[in-house]
Amino acid sequence: MTEITNQNVLNMALYNLEQTSKRLNLNKAIFKRLTGPKEKIEIKLNPTLPDRSVVHLEAFIVRHSDSLGPAKGGIRMTPKVTIDDITGLAMEMTWKTALIDVPFGGGKSGICADPGSLSLGAKEAIIRSFTRGARRHIGPEVYIPAPDMGTNEEDMGHIRDCISYSEGTSITNGCFVTGKPVILGGIVGRRGATGKGVVYSIMAACEKLHIGIKDARVAIQGFGNVGSSAAFDISRTGAKVIAISDITGGVINESGLDVNKLSEYVKEAKCVKGFEGGEYITNEQLLESECDILITAATQSQITSKNAYKIKARLVAEGANSPTTPEADEILNEKKVFIIPDILCNAGGVFVSYLEYTQETQREQTTLDEVRKGLQQRMKQKFNEVYKYSKEKKLSMRDAAMDIAVNRVVEGINARGLLP
Ligand code: NAD
Repeated sequence: MTEITNQNVLNMALYNLEQTSKRLNLNKAIFKRLTGPKEKIEIKLNPTLPDRSVVHLEAFIVRHSDSLGPAKGGIRMTPKVTIDDITGLAMEMTWKTALIDVPFGGGKSGICADPGSLSLGAKEAIIRSFTRGARRHIGPEVYIPAPDMGTNEEDMGHIRDCISYSEGTSITNGCFVTGKPVILGGIVGRRGATGKGVVYSIMAACEKLHIGIKDARVAIQGFGNVGSSAAFDISRTGAKVIAISDITGGVINESGLDVNKLSEYVKEAKCVKGFEGGEYITNEQLLESECDILITAATQSQITSKNAYKIKARLVAEGANSPTTPEADEILNEKKVFIIPDILCNAGGVFVSYLEYTQETQREQTTLDEVRKGLQQRMKQKFNEVYKYSKEKKLSMRDAAMDIAVNRVVEGINARGLLP
């Protein structure tokens, strides 16, 4: 197999699409259309920060497909994000929205900056600068951003304010951004939705694999939005969270980590490293730890051909996007490790974003109970659909999820008919 490990998300996304296209025997014109994004924009930001210094940053917006609806996907803020990563992630969003069955297409944005090194004021200035620069490309019928790595609810609030401010109004006419603070029209339960969805999909998998979740040992890579909410939720099922890491390294405690205490520690220290309720481990050690369930909730290309052989977990839940390279995927499949693929596992966030979109469009109020029930039901239903297809066609969960998603997008393209 061609070695594409450690290359960008786009190469991995294209590889997965190519394999799917062969399985589905896709017509060449459709395949060609799906390989490239509909729109790819590079923006230069020059915001003045609160200390009056001016910084120069690159930003990107990619709309991969809008066949099933406006492009949807988060804003990633990391120092090394590339347009290729954003293009690959936008493509994955197309499959994710199609699979979880919400009327959205796929998009993504990126801002090359290090959120960890920014003051709140500096980050707000950058987010507002991005919104002004990207304004023409953001809209309820065009592209609706949301939080992703390095961005959060507060940032989405600033985007919403920036757009309404430019219109001279208090609110926007329709939903321009999801994952906003509830007080600004966000939906209750969005913050923890992706992590909660990850845990619902794990619960569904445990049922099929006859893993008693109460006795399960869980390791989690990443302790941001997705990883921390997954850690709290999986602890509530009775499972023992034995290891957690972030970009600084991790901690392990075979008797179980106190997730509440770790979270309090991280609020102060801003990192997992140094927490006294466990022993220090590296990220490599965390991935290879003696656990039953491994949740990847950090970044791409973490399980590669170099470490896939050493993974001990029976179940890998991809909370992050593209955490497993194609070579590693093959190795894990040979080892009979059950993988819940990213486009299914972390789709809870975009599902609840859709509820936020409809709530704002229809000026309704949705209750937490409705959001949670809807999320649980959708995750279980989609997990079961993918599982059934994978058994019927003798495919891995990833291949089954890709087949279902790509078929839906192709159906949408065909239903639209000939485009000029
Ligand atoms: P976040 O910025 O809130 O947290 C990221 C966490 O990963 C942090 O703890 C960070 O320290 C850690 N991390 C980053 N790089 C690392 C590395 N090289 N090694 C180890 N740890 C590392 O981001 P998030 O929103 O929780 O997103 C995490 C992943 O989930 C991303 O892949 C993102 O695309 C995906 N995702 C997020 C959402 C969402 O709703 N936020 C939805 C779907 C998918």
